[in-house]
Amino acid sequence: MKNRVGVLVSAGLVRIEEHESPKPREGEVLIKVKAAGICSGDIYAFKGLPVWFTLPAPFGHEPVGDVVEVGPNVTGFKPGDKVIAIGSPAYADYLVAKASSVAKIPSNIPYEYAIGEPLAAIVNVIRVTQPRLGDYVAVVGSGYMGLLLTQALRGMGFSELAVFDIIDDRLKLAKEFGATATVNPTVDDVDKVTKELTNGNGFNVVFEVSGNPNGVDLATRIIGRRGRLSIVSYHSLPVQVNFRIWDAKGIDLVMAVPARSGEEYATIDLRIAAKLLERGVFNQEKLITHEWRLDQLQEALEYASKKPKEYIKGVIIP
Ligand SMILES: [Zn+2]
Repeated sequence: MKNRVGVLVSAGLVRIEEHESPKPREGEVLIKVKAAGICSGDIYAFKGLPVWFTLPAPFGHEPVGDVVEVGPNVTGFKPGDKVIAIGSPAYADYLVAKASSVAKIPSNIPYEYAIGEPLAAIVNVIRVTQPRLGDYVAVVGSGYMGLLLTQALRGMGFSELAVFDIIDDRLKLAKEFGATATVNPTVDDVDKVTKELTNGNGFNVVFEVSGNPNGVDLATRIIGRRGRLSIVSYHSLPVQVNFRIWDAKGIDLVMAVPARSGEEYATIDLRIAAKLLERGVFNQEKLITHEWRLDQLQEALEYASKKPKEYIKGVIIP
């Protein structure tokens, strides 16, 4: 079977190569890709910013598809199973993934709304941050990841679940997904609103999901004494923080990122994500705003790099 693979040759340049489709070896599963999420990490790499892989590289790591073949000693999967996986390269017709990083999903969820790797990341974020019942929780940034996080935090029994962003349409979605309050720092008085929402104490738990140094500053400002600051975003460039305020508030810092959890995120968290997708905790219908074909990968990344306001998350449909 022929297999087209998207390769990021250098900053700003994608090439589609043609290879024979790979064979699953021991413990591996061959997946026919039906949709692959465009990750902001891929966009950073396309823009020439430092990421976790070096160029040239076949890329994309958020595949959804159907199992076509299983390698020796693989149990639990058979051809035809609809699955999410964490594996690369996802911008391709076929990919081979470790069976341990693959999870079955129900057949009624459309492929493009089932993107699973970001959901596993969100599961990981909450399980390592461990917010408690009754906490005053803030989410800084309501892009794709911030909104998914809001969906997952909904119903966990917090005193407040406040979402901060500078785009009002995103805040509207956050409200729909369970935010108890939304704050736009370009319009609202952040200190006053924070005081009102938290009885003057500041937030116990702040998730920084903005991917922007301004978001880190905002998180530093709204967090309360002994608060837990959970860094969810991938920051490609060095960020300057005000240690004097962190010091004064005596905060706890959690790097709630996949690198911290390693294997657990690709295995346990992915399976939890699949279950929560089935339960309707995650719903990506309003989050997937753009779709492109594999041969439009160059165009897709050029568009997404510009961060248009109406763009939340794009997928590649081979
Ligand atoms: Zn990703």
